[in-house]
Amino acid sequence: MTIKNFWNRRNFLGSAGALAGMMLSARRLFGMRAVIPSPVEEKLTGFGATGNVYEELGVTTVINGQGTMTYLGGSLPRPEVAAVMALAAQHFVSIVELEQAAGKRIAELLKLPPDYDAIVTCGAAAGMQSGLSGILTGNNPKFIEQLPDLTGLKSEVIIQKSHRNGFDHQLRATGVKLIEVDSREDVKRAINSKTAMMHFSNFANAAGQIKVDEWVKLAHENQIPAFNDAAADTPPVSHLWDYVNMGYDLIAFSGGKAIRGPQCAGLLLGKKELIANALLNNSPHEDTLGRGMKIGKEEIVGMVKALECYLSEDHAALDKEWWRRLDSVSAEITRVPGVTTSFNVPDVANHVPHMHIDWDPRKISLAPHDAASALRKGKPSIVLGSSEDGLGMNSFMLKPGEEKIIAEHLVQLFKAHAV
Ligand SMILES: *Cc1c(COP(=O)(O)O)cnc(C)c1O
Repeated sequence: MTIKNFWNRRNFLGSAGALAGMMLSARRLFGMRAVIPSPVEEKLTGFGATGNVYEELGVTTVINGQGTMTYLGGSLPRPEVAAVMALAAQHFVSIVELEQAAGKRIAELLKLPPDYDAIVTCGAAAGMQSGLSGILTGNNPKFIEQLPDLTGLKSEVIIQKSHRNGFDHQLRATGVKLIEVDSREDVKRAINSKTAMMHFSNFANAAGQIKVDEWVKLAHENQIPAFNDAAADTPPVSHLWDYVNMGYDLIAFSGGKAIRGPQCAGLLLGKKELIANALLNNSPHEDTLGRGMKIGKEEIVGMVKALECYLSEDHAALDKEWWRRLDSVSAEITRVPGVTTSFNVPDVANHVPHMHIDWDPRKISLAPHDAASALRKGKPSIVLGSSEDGLGMNSFMLKPGEEKIIAEHLVQLFKAHAV
């Protein structure tokens, strides 16, 4: 097929054209005279010629009603992101110089205070590891080489017990020991000359005794830098500066979740010196702990574009569209006797509309996990969340029209198991 065929500006919301964007000339994309040569031929031959690289590899694509899950590929990058990534791929540059320039642009876009800066990492998790590495080593080349051996360095990070999660592995990778606390008293007792940092998992704000604003104050009262892992915490867009304004020294966001940047990108925002030291501990610098977390020129540039697009988006209109999709699924499936729906928006992390789908087992004989598994095995394959209590879905990663397919398949499934 020709690339032109699967490109369509109306795909922006759903990004069916995201991959196609990689191959577009500036002229085709923006409807202007080409000033930059097209990076590839208009027609692909061999791999990719059908327009569906996944199908060609025998990998099933799924309708994603679960959200920005890394195991499903995160999000679909905006076509504009793919377009600037293709442009980035046409030249060599100094990666360090590019990181500094991109960071400066990001700080301007976010109107960060003058003592803050940014770099693009290969994800929020990478930002956590390199940010902490920089705190530990400073700009000392010997210490940078030495990590994760902490001889002569601070070696402890304080974290609330309820904030422990799979991502603190990235902190432990630096060699530090995590010191778990619950109460303010625990924090006082835990702080000592080995304390390098106090870490906060933003999505666990409600679970811990010490909330996000108090945590940074406690840290600063004791001259300890505070980190906020806010990976999945846009929307709302204001979170991109809220934690800076609260005084957090370092904050990490995923680029490949709701911001819809490159999947392997993230933002590390923070105090200038800490950002510089994080970069010293990251690729492209060799003999560093972060060398394995390579970020390419394409992702760095793509992240800048994604942020620019995200900031200028009509967030209220997006939110309305996400509700409309859930409402339309709900309207269809609640016509099946016994099916009910309810809605919620998590306070922090994935702060988007979610729908819970429940049914009366006396009317529909189907366990929620079996329902999820049947949908996953169906054609097309649909991924929803499931628990003992029912199914869960959100709509912010759906492509236009996919909500109709989900509704149809759910109705069929429920009717097939009606008692
Ligand atoms: C997704 C996530 C991460 C990791 O972010 P990546 O950008 O995938 O590296 C870290 N912490 C939390 C809470 C997350 O949700």
